[in-house]
Amino acid sequence: MDQLNKQPDHKLEQQILLEEIRLLHGGTPFSYTASFVISLIIYYVLLDHVESQRNLNIWLITILTVLFIRSIDSYFFFKSDKQDQVKSSWRIRFMVGTGIAGFCWGLLPWLGYSPEIEYFAFIMVCLIGVIAGSLSTLAYRWESMALFLLPASLLLVFRLIIEDRSFSDSTSFVLAVFIFFSLSAGRRIFNNTQQNIRLRLEADNRERAIELMHQKQALHLQNTPLAIIEFDINFNVTEWNKAAEHIFGYSRNEAIHENILRLILPRDSSDAAEKLWQRLLNFEAVVGYVIENKTRSKAAIFCEWFVTPLTDEENNIVGIAAMALDITDKKQTELAIIKSKEEAEKANQAKSDFLSSMSHELRTPLNAILGFTQLLKYEKTLTEKQQSHVDEISNAGNLLLELVNQILDLARIEKGHLQLSMEKIKLSDCFKECQAMVAPLAEQKNLSLDIKTETDGYVIADFTRLKQVMLNLLSNAIKYNSENGSVSIKVTQKENNVVRISIIDKGQGISEELQQEIFQPFSRLNAASNIEGTGIGLSISKQLIEMMNGNIGVCSKVGEGSEFWIELTGKLAFTTAIESESKPAFVSNVPDSTSGTGTKNILIAEDNPTNQTLILSQLETLGYSADIAANGQEALDKMADTEYHLLITDCNMPLMDGYKLTKTIRERGNNTLPIIAITANAFPEIKAGCLDVGMSDMITKPVDLDTLKDTIERYLN
Ligand code: ADP
Repeated sequence: MDQLNKQPDHKLEQQILLEEIRLLHGGTPFSYTASFVISLIIYYVLLDHVESQRNLNIWLITILTVLFIRSIDSYFFFKSDKQDQVKSSWRIRFMVGTGIAGFCWGLLPWLGYSPEIEYFAFIMVCLIGVIAGSLSTLAYRWESMALFLLPASLLLVFRLIIEDRSFSDSTSFVLAVFIFFSLSAGRRIFNNTQQNIRLRLEADNRERAIELMHQKQALHLQNTPLAIIEFDINFNVTEWNKAAEHIFGYSRNEAIHENILRLILPRDSSDAAEKLWQRLLNFEAVVGYVIENKTRSKAAIFCEWFVTPLTDEENNIVGIAAMALDITDKKQTELAIIKSKEEAEKANQAKSDFLSSMSHELRTPLNAILGFTQLLKYEKTLTEKQQSHVDEISNAGNLLLELVNQILDLARIEKGHLQLSMEKIKLSDCFKECQAMVAPLAEQKNLSLDIKTETDGYVIADFTRLKQVMLNLLSNAIKYNSENGSVSIKVTQKENNVVRISIIDKGQGISEELQQEIFQPFSRLNAASNIEGTGIGLSISKQLIEMMNGNIGVCSKVGEGSEFWIELTGKLAFTTAIESESKPAFVSNVPDSTSGTGTKNILIAEDNPTNQTLILSQLETLGYSADIAANGQEALDKMADTEYHLLITDCNMPLMDGYKLTKTIRERGNNTLPIIAITANAFPEIKAGCLDVGMSDMITKPVDLDTLKDTIERYLN
């Protein structure tokens, strides 16, 4: 730091020394000429009156030789360049020269001694004149003045003392006073000169620095990509740089004195300018204000503005300094990104719409396929081969139904239509239901299943959706397991009230590379082609868990097995490892065809002939008979003639749909008739809509025989 501070001072000292030596040499033409002339005059005046003419000649030759040598030195000094002049050798030579010159002048009373009193007085006067004259040229350096003055005057004083004339003492005293005053005057002159030189050099340096700064600024102003514009309070342009010319298309000459608003603002953006002006009036600097501007060729561009008010000493705004950056390209890219994002969102929306309507449409024919297949399964007359074919149709149909359901889920999640109802869920409840559903699968593959159904604890989640995720993970663990392998659940309490549920299998495992894409939709990785699957389950699971503010992940080692884990907010009371239940909890409900009462009248409102046949057959299998109406109006007509104990209605029908039919029945005061809706729409909000209009329950297509039986029994009994 010290070093840094000293650096500029050192430079200044160098400059001062240079200036001094130049001033000293600068005075030599005058002083040498004067010395030359005076010494010649002295010589001629004294020639006939000196004690020894030889001595006077010696003096003259000596002083002229010294003058000559010093003149040559000065000549070379002026010839040398600045860097050379700084060298101390010039100064030393000048000092030595001055000392010798002073000594030579001091020799005058000795070598030019005249016994005649008036000539001796002449010598004294000349010497004092020379000494006084030297003050003006030598005082730039005090030492050089002293070096000249002291030998010259002291030798005179000695001569006076030796002379011992009557006036010697008093003259010596006056001379001593003269020497003293000359030296102190010289010192003062030197100090003042020094000060002046210093101030002048400092001012020069400052001026040069400012000039350099101005040059730099001018260079920046010219080369910056920022348009730099200044205008007065009447909006007339006072400054317009090259970038402004480039951005707005007006040359400097065209722009200066023109109204900035007229030049670069589109007509309809005066509001923006007004707002900007108001902010400036409040002395606010405006940073990064983006507005639309126009160029000379009327093209629209976008500029980002940085604007500051310029004020006078009394704080009145006298103008505005503004910088503008052309961000049209950036803005256009931004707009293009927004547009393509909107287009992508639209395309995604269209995809989701298509998926959801397609899946919905698929459910209706699936209803017939699965329904009739289920009926066929109970047909006693089928051969074993036919039974196995029916099983194949049923399996394929169920897989298709699963795919349709999953696609529907995916579409609903993407559209943001899936609503969750978050609640405290007892882990044992969830695990028990999962156990019941996956145990038969595990048994089929001879797998040991260890689901901790007695786990005491809870998580915050949506029950149905958590079960869906668990079932997906458990069924994967079973599907992708090896023969006689095992599937288990491990539950651990983590920090911050987080519960981790791990589903662990001893299956084929997943390589690290494949783990990266496992949660992507439709990625079946390298699943064997004989293992049924859609490749969507894990992607839905991830989205569902994240919607429940949780995390999902996988750790796996090829050949050893996988651990799929989910983390949700929750708490474990205690965790006990319990033995997996040996028997599956799931017991298939074989429909009991004797359960139907036969005496109850059931009315079916359904427009699709296939579905009409199906539902009639299903009811028949369950031991019921029913009347059919092809739409709501027909159903009302039939109800006018017959008293029904149950109405099963499709939601979407021509003439009068299921909703209208229900509303009409309820409006007519019949609030006791159970009305069950059958719909291909599996969404919870559809069920809510059904209940809202007064229906008692809802069954989704494809209609499962067990569900149909349970529902009918519930309402008929
Ligand atoms: P699906 O099982 O219907 O194919 P998922 O999304 O549930 O779809 O799983 C995606 C893929 O991840 C599966 O096709 C399978 O290759 C792999 N996978 C999932 N779970 C496991 C597991 N426990 N062990 C090995 N691979 C698995």
